[in-house]
Amino acid sequence: MLFCFILWTACLFFCFHYTSCNNVINVGVIFDPDQFEGGVNWNVISDNLDKDFQFRTPEIKYIDKPDSFEATNMLCQMSDTETGLAAVFGPRNSLTSNSLESACSFLNIPYMLSSWRPRTATESDVTFNLYPEATLLSQAYATVVQSLDWDTFVIIYDDEEGLIKLQDVLKLQEHDENAVKNTMMLTKLDPSGDSRHILKKIRNTSMSRIVLDCPLDKILNVLEQAKEVKLLADFTTSFFLTSLDAHTLDFSSLNTKSNITTVRLFDPSNENFQKNVQQYYPETEPSEITVEQALMHDAMLLLTYSLNNAKKTQEEEVLEYEGKSCSSLEKYEDTLGVIAALKEVELSDGLTGPVHLMNGKREDFRLEVIEIDKQDKPIGIWESERPDAIYLTRNATEREAEIKNRLQNHKFIVTSRIGPPYLFEDRDKEVAGNARYYGYSMDLIGEIAKLLNITFEFQITKDNSPRNLAIDLIERNADLAICDFTITPERREIIDFSMPFMTLGIGILHKKAETDEEANMYGFLGPLSTVVWLYIGALYLLMSFLLVFISRMSTEDWENPHPCDQNPSELENIWDLKNCCWLTLGSITTQGCDILPKGVCSRLATASWWFFSLIITSSYTANLAAFLTMSRKDDSIDSVEELATQSKVKYGCLKGGSTASFFEKSNNSLYQRMWNNMAMDKAVFEDSNAKGVERIQSTKNALYAFFMESTGIEYELERKCDLRRIGNLLDSKSYGIGMPMNADYRHSINSAVLKLQETGKLIELKEKWWKKEREGEPCPSDAPENTDALALENVGGVFLVLGVCIGLAFVIAILEFLWNVHNVSVEEHISYLEALKVELKFACNIFITKKRVKPLLSESSSTKSDDSSKPNVGILNGAASFLNINTSIIHKLGSTEELNKRSSTRTRKSSSTMRE
Ligand code: GLU
Repeated sequence: MLFCFILWTACLFFCFHYTSCNNVINVGVIFDPDQFEGGVNWNVISDNLDKDFQFRTPEIKYIDKPDSFEATNMLCQMSDTETGLAAVFGPRNSLTSNSLESACSFLNIPYMLSSWRPRTATESDVTFNLYPEATLLSQAYATVVQSLDWDTFVIIYDDEEGLIKLQDVLKLQEHDENAVKNTMMLTKLDPSGDSRHILKKIRNTSMSRIVLDCPLDKILNVLEQAKEVKLLADFTTSFFLTSLDAHTLDFSSLNTKSNITTVRLFDPSNENFQKNVQQYYPETEPSEITVEQALMHDAMLLLTYSLNNAKKTQEEEVLEYEGKSCSSLEKYEDTLGVIAALKEVELSDGLTGPVHLMNGKREDFRLEVIEIDKQDKPIGIWESERPDAIYLTRNATEREAEIKNRLQNHKFIVTSRIGPPYLFEDRDKEVAGNARYYGYSMDLIGEIAKLLNITFEFQITKDNSPRNLAIDLIERNADLAICDFTITPERREIIDFSMPFMTLGIGILHKKAETDEEANMYGFLGPLSTVVWLYIGALYLLMSFLLVFISRMSTEDWENPHPCDQNPSELENIWDLKNCCWLTLGSITTQGCDILPKGVCSRLATASWWFFSLIITSSYTANLAAFLTMSRKDDSIDSVEELATQSKVKYGCLKGGSTASFFEKSNNSLYQRMWNNMAMDKAVFEDSNAKGVERIQSTKNALYAFFMESTGIEYELERKCDLRRIGNLLDSKSYGIGMPMNADYRHSINSAVLKLQETGKLIELKEKWWKKEREGEPCPSDAPENTDALALENVGGVFLVLGVCIGLAFVIAILEFLWNVHNVSVEEHISYLEALKVELKFACNIFITKKRVKPLLSESSSTKSDDSSKPNVGILNGAASFLNINTSIIHKLGSTEELNKRSSTRTRKSSSTMRE
């Protein structure tokens, strides 16, 4: 009973004491409706206040919608009480907050804030905002973006305040004036909440680095939508979240390996932090504490420390708070010195690190840059003392190694095109997946996969068109593009390429001229056209006939057959058809003739024939050399200029490839002209190089040429011997592995390609697919083209003519011989066989040079005769037979001397042998 009395008396005393000394602390709290759902533990204040104070847990007032009048009203009511207000904790909304701020300024009540607000021209000195100062924070964001090496990125913002928040990031674009560097795109989230169309648009620009500024509760939604439209693709997209609370989100639902970076003000795994959270927010996980909550906690601490300090500096025992009315005519003073104390006080044990406000702003703070999937270790530290720098906790090699680790066992989707020798498809196989494909590209990615310990899956791009390869990468349908994928400036703007793995240039593939053996063999006929040959032939015959008639009419051509006989009984004309033919032939072949006409008219006719022959043979001879040389070179095209300046041979290239765009975009007038020609006739384009090659081969008379990359040409020339490459390469470029812009793995792929190059693997692969993997023998190398020697094929016809003529002569000789045998058998009255035997024996004995007029049957095998006076009947017979001289005349001539004499006389007189 006595104990109860003492306790009651003590309580009464304390109540009286506190009420009377007015050390009661009231704080006003006016919040936005959604603020601090997790609750605020006001015990932070009571626990840290001096024992002399009595802290009353405030009643939190919420403002349903931004309304400055209502907010001010609330504040005035709270303030105009007996104990007044020691401080006011304000809302986030800037409209409400600004009116409360000016009311607090009038009443001289500390106004505590824990949310972002832009720097304003008119600053109130009663406002204490623990949220990092806006301009410094903006600088921090810019420094982070720079440290991430982002030169091209998109800023996605939720409202205009976001742009103020990111003003220094926006300024980055001016950092590099000359370069395309720091290209940024600004886009606002759709207020409806569905921003898929915006995100899709971003994806199609191939921008893969995104700064996302939006409230915490929208972040996951936006990222999910980004994932739906494939903007949030593994290893190829990077997000930077500006929210200082982003680390509190659970990103596991996204199931992404994308690079998501953010900044945080405190480390939830810090020991002190955890201890404090445990003490004041035992219900909450340290990782769930938001910045606002932590800042509120620190603001309460700051206020209590200031109250304690203010009380210490006061002479009185108590801090006499009194009610302040908004209707007062005069502005209130900081009589208790709390505001002054707030400006001085430094907090070392805050949840958000040390706090010291300068002019009510937090200008001294530190941010940790973290990747959401590795929150235990920040990747960089930013400090307000050096706002332009960032301390990176890992170097490039470590980062590379980390990425490599993350890449392990990631299944890369490889987009490619079917086309030899890069990729072949085994159509017979029922097997799905990679087993269907083989070729250079397959081997190349196989080697890279071995080096990086990754897995991959091949897929063929739509329509097998090179144009769709880049689209696959932009749309994040593939991670890599491997085939004969040319690095072009246009493509480099939208996708990344690895180091080149092959160099090449555009060449022209054409068919070799179809060699016409026969035409070449009779090349000697070429200098004159067929018609001219026919005319010459006809004229030759006509002339020979005419000469016969002319000479028969000419009296001088009728000669005495026996010059010794002064009064011959008859005259002879040697100009029969055979002799005339001989004369005309001798003239046109420039060999001359041993008999010549004597008559004026016949000589005139002969001379005119000579003149004709002279011109014809000279023209023929002059043309012959040039013609033989020319005829060996086909009339095909040998350079791109020749191809461009003719219209007979059509030319084309692969549709939608880099070769087509080379011509399309070229500034060279020649190539422009060629492109116009090609564009006019769309049929010259082909869907694949293989079809182009097929068309070259199947087009008759080599009337189609195909522009192709030199590596492909090389491959085809190894296998298709009827093809040839025309001229030099038109340009020089390389193949690379295509990747989405700024993909995390580009350095790994690059170093793998470099390694394959260093170890000679790339050469080995090329050798394998270009030379070794073949059916049949390689094409024989062509004979050097520049040799001037004529081959047998070029002059074969001349040999043939000679052979035929000799053969003909031989046949005639045999017939004549047989006829002679017949004559001998008749004259000598011996059997034909006997005569043949004797004559044959004689003819075959090449040592006998003289022959009896009449064969001695007993001397059928007569030896070489000593009788030199006997005429050489064999020889005479031969000569006579051609000139059609009757052999009996020769026999009559008797001796060799006489014969010789007659012969010389005949020559001198230009007469021919006589016919009996
Ligand atoms: N390599 C080319 C490309 O990547 C395709 C072949 C060509 O155009 O000749 O577009």
